[in-house]
Amino acid sequence: MRVAVISDIHGNSHALEAVLDALGAEAADEIWCLGDTVGYGPEPNRCCALVAERTTLCLAGNHDLAVSGAISLEEFNGDAAAAVRWTRQAIDAASLEFLRGLSPLGRREGVELFHGSPLDPIWDYVLSEEAARRSFEATSAPLVLVGHSHVALVLSFDGARIAGGLAAADEAVPLGNERFLLNPGSVGQPRGKDPRAAWMLVDLDAATVSFHRTEYAVGATQAEIRARGLPEALALRLALGV
Ligand code: ZN
Repeated sequence: MRVAVISDIHGNSHALEAVLDALGAEAADEIWCLGDTVGYGPEPNRCCALVAERTTLCLAGNHDLAVSGAISLEEFNGDAAAAVRWTRQAIDAASLEFLRGLSPLGRREGVELFHGSPLDPIWDYVLSEEAARRSFEATSAPLVLVGHSHVALVLSFDGARIAGGLAAADEAVPLGNERFLLNPGSVGQPRGKDPRAAWMLVDLDAATVSFHRTEYAVGATQAEIRARGLPEALALRLALGV
């Protein structure tokens, strides 16, 4: 089975639609989303509708849980809080119902999935070797998938040593005998000074992962952010990929 894994869409429907087009060409059997469908971006309802329709598994991220009221706004600062506040008043009934049905962790055969990490599926970031080691030790599945940091990662663990690091665009990696922890990066607010939307394709039968970047109309999302009065920094960062 070939699974396209997306994460951290953050209300950016132009990025999401470009990625859905691109992964359709790769003939993915299923699409899994690791959370944060909303927050920061201008099109939360369109993104919820598309994710609800197209994915077979979707996790809740910290922004999703804040918008649905499951966690407090006090956990957020600055632009993130302003965006959650805006999204709470913009979200429609169907999107809210969708978000309320999501969990920050999930499981499929041979795969454990978390928005943050196994230690804290909502808030923890896996961005260091130490964090990766703790995540491997807290799980037993051959494959661990995380989102939340917006940084594409491929890390392996042979029971003693962590190897790997940042995943480059268009990089393909065989998933060998070690266990692996993968992060697809972010669809709607990508990092690494690369503004293209990030996602990955996992072939569970062939045991390979490939990392992808897809161009989208950044200017269209920026115009929507400005039209809705969301913080200007949220528009500017999209063009820079930071
Ligand atoms: Zn996020």
